[in-house]
Amino acid sequence: MKIIDLRSDTVTKPTLEMRQAMLEAEVGDDCHGEDPTVKQLQNLAAEKMGKEAALYVSSGTMANNVALMTHTQVGETAIVDAEAHIYYYESAAISSLAGVMPIIVDHPTGCPDPDQISYYLQRDPTRFPLTSLICLESTHNRRGGRPIALDRIASIYQFAQAHRTAVHLDGARIFNAAHALGVSAWEIAQYTDSVSFCLSKGLAAPVGSLLVGTTEFIQQAVRIRRRLGGGMRQAGVIAAAGIVALTEMVNRLQEDHQHAQIIAEGLAEIEALELEPGDFPTNMVVFNTRNLGISAPDFAKQAAAKRVRISYFDPQRVRIVTNNDADREDVLYAADVLVRLAKSMQN
Ligand SMILES: *Cc1c(COP(=O)(O)O)cnc(C)c1O
Repeated sequence: MKIIDLRSDTVTKPTLEMRQAMLEAEVGDDCHGEDPTVKQLQNLAAEKMGKEAALYVSSGTMANNVALMTHTQVGETAIVDAEAHIYYYESAAISSLAGVMPIIVDHPTGCPDPDQISYYLQRDPTRFPLTSLICLESTHNRRGGRPIALDRIASIYQFAQAHRTAVHLDGARIFNAAHALGVSAWEIAQYTDSVSFCLSKGLAAPVGSLLVGTTEFIQQAVRIRRRLGGGMRQAGVIAAAGIVALTEMVNRLQEDHQHAQIIAEGLAEIEALELEPGDFPTNMVVFNTRNLGISAPDFAKQAAAKRVRISYFDPQRVRIVTNNDADREDVLYAADVLVRLAKSMQN
């Protein structure tokens, strides 16, 4: 019996077309700039994001780390959302690798209001550390897969520019954000100095992420990537799958969003969960198990016993992520399992 894995969109396996492309990829030593497939992927990524240049890296975490280390100097500060991936899941690289002190700002959208941060951007640099970077995240993982509205990111970018501060977007799922907002990815990216995004999530590539920005920024980023041991040789073998991801898999994300709605609408029937399907416009559904009288890990365990794997953020918050390896039938089954389970626990 098939196990339906909704723990993350990272669990997706490469498609047949990706494996074929990997087999046939033309390769060379990318550390010498000689891998035509990597170059093609980077050009495609830059074009899609409306940026001058792109750099292929092994993971989203590496893309963020390279961005942080390229934008900042040791001893500076960066504005980071309280629930950001950069803050939660990257082994404290912001401080341990970049040597940057995070200034944590909490805003439900994941994007600060200018008045929350204007103090940090205007401090006297002779007495206070420089704030050289604002980190944003869209869609925002720990905030339920929400995209940042275009006018919000536009206003924070304008504000950052006025204060000579760079904006980096952790756009691991930027194509999910673009789809939910009904815009192209470049329309989001135009309000940033750099964007990192993943090929290995909803786009189903086996590995790889990209960092995009100006030509000058990416030239520096190449050096930083090397410092981190991230220079790769015949990387065209994996980049080939990334090209398929970028050209063939972006439009399919809408299916993941529809599937998440099926699950969210099912769970919305359960009053104790206080779920608003509209709060989950992309491929995630998050709910709190508190009113069911069970912990999130235990809820996940019970779902797994019925062949539905889900994850959790903390002892009370369950996370469900729809993805390419779970089709409509799987999702209908999973929704049924989760709804029945929650109903059986209610009161
Ligand atoms: C997954 C993710 C990353 C990091 O990607 P890895 O490839 O797992 O290192 C960064 N930011 C966000 C928001 C993510 O969801």
